[in-house]
Amino acid sequence: MVRELTHFVGGKHIEGTSGRFSDVFDPSTGAVQARVPLASRAEVEAVIANAEIAQVEWAAWNPQRRARVLLRFLALVERDMDSLARLLSSEHGKTFEDAKGDIQRGVEVVEFAVGAPHLLKGDYTTGAGTGIDVYSMRQPLGVVAGITPFNFPAMIPLWKAGPALAAGNAFILKPSERDPSVPLALGELFIEAGLPAGVFNVVNGDKEAVDTLLHDDRVKAIGFVGSTPIAQYIYETAAAQGKRAQCFGGAKNHMIIMPDADLDQVADALIGAGYGSAGERCMAISVAVPVGAATADALVAKLVERVSSLTVGPALDPNSDYGPLVSEAAVAKVSEYIQIGIDEGAELLADGRGFVVDGFENGFYLGPTLFDHVTPSMRIYLEEIFGPVLIVTRADDYEAALRLPSEHMYGNGVSIFTRDGDTARDFTARVNTGMVGVNVPIPVPIAYHSFGGWKKSGFGDLNQFGTDSFKFYTKTKTVTSRWPSGTKEGASFVMPQMH
Ligand code: NAD
Repeated sequence: MVRELTHFVGGKHIEGTSGRFSDVFDPSTGAVQARVPLASRAEVEAVIANAEIAQVEWAAWNPQRRARVLLRFLALVERDMDSLARLLSSEHGKTFEDAKGDIQRGVEVVEFAVGAPHLLKGDYTTGAGTGIDVYSMRQPLGVVAGITPFNFPAMIPLWKAGPALAAGNAFILKPSERDPSVPLALGELFIEAGLPAGVFNVVNGDKEAVDTLLHDDRVKAIGFVGSTPIAQYIYETAAAQGKRAQCFGGAKNHMIIMPDADLDQVADALIGAGYGSAGERCMAISVAVPVGAATADALVAKLVERVSSLTVGPALDPNSDYGPLVSEAAVAKVSEYIQIGIDEGAELLADGRGFVVDGFENGFYLGPTLFDHVTPSMRIYLEEIFGPVLIVTRADDYEAALRLPSEHMYGNGVSIFTRDGDTARDFTARVNTGMVGVNVPIPVPIAYHSFGGWKKSGFGDLNQFGTDSFKFYTKTKTVTSRWPSGTKEGASFVMPQMH
């Protein structure tokens, strides 16, 4: 029996009325386990109207009182961690431990957002001119929306909702239609934590729902994460509508391996960062760049050995290193890239196609795939594959290695493994990429810094979480005030100056 999912609006689950649905699979078995309603324009407009009313009361609460709701929410997520993680694994396909990590990295941003009373304090200048005081305050935008990808169904919604709610906005989440159940469960937890109904809403849907959010004047900001073509479309459309937008896109993250690096450490880091979560992470390492032929040969030998011992299986099997991909279409797309790599002349060292897990023959599995001798002109180097495929692109020297991520069209994350401080320092200063790891394979910054890629990996000038997020979800109002006793000059016809 296939469950019918809902939207979460005004503090409760409501059925979809559009008559359109999308199947939600269990990628481990390949079976359809639910269907999710795809909202019509009218349904989305009703959610916006409801959120607009709810936001007024929420914004009037003092920031500390709002933060207390988030504190209670954090305790509830901790209480329900295991059941949320199982639900997440069952729709996404990542392992149970990895699903807990997905939730936890979202939780950390909500923990940061609990600091809203401090983060929302404005600036004050007393005596800016004779009898004149100037102060600024940060006010919520009103109704804001988040449009999120399938690959982190807890973390990315919380990266957006935490700061947006703490700042006094109402939030409409349009999660991925492929794994919407955890976002719906988060809606329930917000209500249990004491959030007023209508302040956090989940509307399920596809392009119709997204376009409604983009074109409705009552929605003041759009936070998007997903693939680059959609990120660019959303950024351009939002800007044309006069909305602020931050839109994060795809990636091709390189790891530079210097000859002095510990190659066992590097190989372990590459296996985890390349194949973890079946490579479906925007911060996965998909390109290994060993410097020098000797480093490359030694590293490739270690990778081949480790790849052959990886265990791929159902998401909830504790022995699985990684689980299935999210959909049959994803398996087909990644398999096509493997063929493209072979046709382009790269050397295929491990082929994950046709991978079958006993007892789960219909699951969406792909074995680990490894290519060597991939050159920068090949499509498998230039394009995001988003699957368990690691490629090795050899560089003759450090400068050649530095140029690769710097000149790539994506600029999300990059890392360098070396024991040499000078090299690491030069690399971090010069590489043209938003987030850099030094001997850290997946440099996702912690909650009180911020997350954002460069070039085709990010559109907009403010990052996700950290203090940037409070800037994104608020607008600045600046007050210049003078009391009557300070007003002595009569009318003035020149620009006021602070003498
Ligand atoms: P996607 O672009 O297919 O979907 C993202 C969201 O956009 C979903 O909610 C989807 O319903 C919506 N959407 C899809 N097509 C649309 C259209 N034509 N018009 C309007 N909305 C549309 O991405 P995905 O497959 O869910 O996620 C994987 C991608 O996300 C990868 O490219 C990955 O690199 C990227 N990603 C980036 C980051 C980052 O921070 N840079 C983080 C996670 C994932």
